[in-house]
Amino acid sequence: KEAHAAEMERSFIAIKPDGVQRGLIAEIISRFERKGFKLVAIKIVIPSKDFAQKHYHDLKERPFFNGLCDFLSSGPVVAMVWEGEGVIKYGRKLIGATDPQKSEPGTIRGDLAVVVGRNIIHGSDGPETAKDEINLWFKPEELTSYSSNTEKWIY
Ligand code: ADP
Ligand code: MG
Repeated sequence: KEAHAAEMERSFIAIKPDGVQRGLIAEIISRFERKGFKLVAIKIVIPSKDFAQKHYHDLKERPFFNGLCDFLSSGPVVAMVWEGEGVIKYGRKLIGATDPQKSEPGTIRGDLAVVVGRNIIHGSDGPETAKDEINLWFKPEELTSYSSNTEKWIY
């Protein structure tokens, strides 16, 4: 049974400044799109350092926290919400392991990144963080809800 769009699972996915700078926006979006997930929100923003600290608040005790937040706020980020069955867990699979040296070939980080501090993409790691991150980055009215197959534009 198909879940109604309003209750369909959503994940927060962001292309970090290195991914944007390297011209990987379309490449990354296409991997989620071709898999069959649905893009329900997207914008490009330069987050403040304070905002980056909020986004990564869970990591504030880690030694790399300050550098990580400087990096996230160093340039434009493509913030997105993707929707679909299993999108949180499978999105993490598409992204690959945190350290690109350990990410499998075929994953976004495995194919396109080299070092952990510049791993080009973020994805929510669970239902609670997904909810929190979507609320942090987007206003409710920025999230669309639509069915892809009511209009017959694709035959
Ligand atoms: P993920 O992004 O895979 O969910 P984490 O939530 O553990 O990984 O960490 C958030 C981000 O912090 C990582 O994507 C990476 O950019 C950065 N990071 C994680 N570990 C390190 C590290 N040891 N050194 C530098 N940066 C790190
Ligand atoms: Mg994480």
